[in-house]
Amino acid sequence: MSHFVSHLEAAIDGTVIPFGTLANLHNGRPIWVRYHLDRIREAVTPADIAKRPPNLWRYRELLPLPADVEPTTLGEGMTPLLHCARLGKQLGLSNLFVKDESQLPTGSFKSRGMAAAVSMAKWLGVKRVALPTAGNAGGAAAAYAARAGLECYVFMPHDTPIVNQFEPHLYGAKAFRVNGLINDCGKIVKDGADRMGWFDLSTLKEPYRLEGKKTMGLELAEQMNYSLPGTIFYPTGGGTGLIGMWKAFHELAEMQWLSRDPKGSVAFPRLISCQAEGCAPIVRAFDKGERFAELFPNARTVASGLRVPAAVGDFMILDAIRASGGKAATGSEAKIATWMRRASSAEGISICPETAVCFDVLEQMIAAGEVKPDERVVVFNTGAATKYLESLPADLPSIDKDRVDWEMIAG
Ligand SMILES: *Cc1c(COP(=O)(O)O)cnc(C)c1O
Repeated sequence: MSHFVSHLEAAIDGTVIPFGTLANLHNGRPIWVRYHLDRIREAVTPADIAKRPPNLWRYRELLPLPADVEPTTLGEGMTPLLHCARLGKQLGLSNLFVKDESQLPTGSFKSRGMAAAVSMAKWLGVKRVALPTAGNAGGAAAAYAARAGLECYVFMPHDTPIVNQFEPHLYGAKAFRVNGLINDCGKIVKDGADRMGWFDLSTLKEPYRLEGKKTMGLELAEQMNYSLPGTIFYPTGGGTGLIGMWKAFHELAEMQWLSRDPKGSVAFPRLISCQAEGCAPIVRAFDKGERFAELFPNARTVASGLRVPAAVGDFMILDAIRASGGKAATGSEAKIATWMRRASSAEGISICPETAVCFDVLEQMIAAGEVKPDERVVVFNTGAATKYLESLPADLPSIDKDRVDWEMIAG
């Protein structure tokens, strides 16, 4: 057998969907990929995986692309897990780690999902893909589409960060600025599907981006020697990162790869879903005890990856947070620039605004006694600060052009 997928499964009602044909949503909701985990356990061991090249395709048995199909790849995956002693000390934590996704192709973790989704779309015969984006997904989709030789259409709000607006065009996509929010862009993609014959690559509207993002969880487990951290802080927009990681941990647990405590149970991490106060639909639903989130009105935040007012996988995010014993919480918009500079300057890691929000939530939880000083804490840095030119925490001073002049950059 060249792959280990058993079937696809509708997340909302468990309907079984056969694998091997194009799939988007089921009853308007996302689809899981399910595997023969018992067979994978017989076919491969952690020691085998440890010997493979350091990219996300090392987890090939746990990915849907058949083994005899070449993936579309830019070498994505196996990002460093960096111990942050200096920043940890400032915060009173001895075991603070950042998993640095800013080092991935196109500068964000979106490349993981697109590597998997574009590889699968190509294998299933797709020639043209389209997606809405609030930021980094457009550049990543365009890059992988270029690599695969597929046509790509990208629709983004006109106030998407400027680098993100240039990127899809650079990679040869047909890129459009839209007077609207990401939901409006999503509608354009949905409504155009029949006429344009494109495959919709929107977050969670096809099953495979989630599988690519799942590899963050697989890598974290491998890097921590298959014993998971105490708490994970993850910036949440559409939620694939969080949902994917939770899926990864459970697949590893079922394969009995994760270490167990003396009573024989696996200690799963608490998932802390971090959102900006200007767009926090998941936090609202979590606080109200709801399983589905309401549309967040007037969504606003410079953390563009978090500007998702309605997530099609809301219940999957909320189920994962609750099952983990974690929570959803907001970080202050006003502190985003401060945290970008504070964390970046303490450790030399290019911290994006989305992750700045996580640090604010982390600090609040430390102050409330909700994080122990020696607990292993992992913060995901989902993208590179440099992609957010207009939000970088610095003001360039004007200099006198008539003579040799210098002024220090402040802010
Ligand atoms: C897309 C994005 C997010 C949100 O990720 P989801 O998995 O969709 O919740 C966070 N940070 C950055 C930098 C992003 O590009």
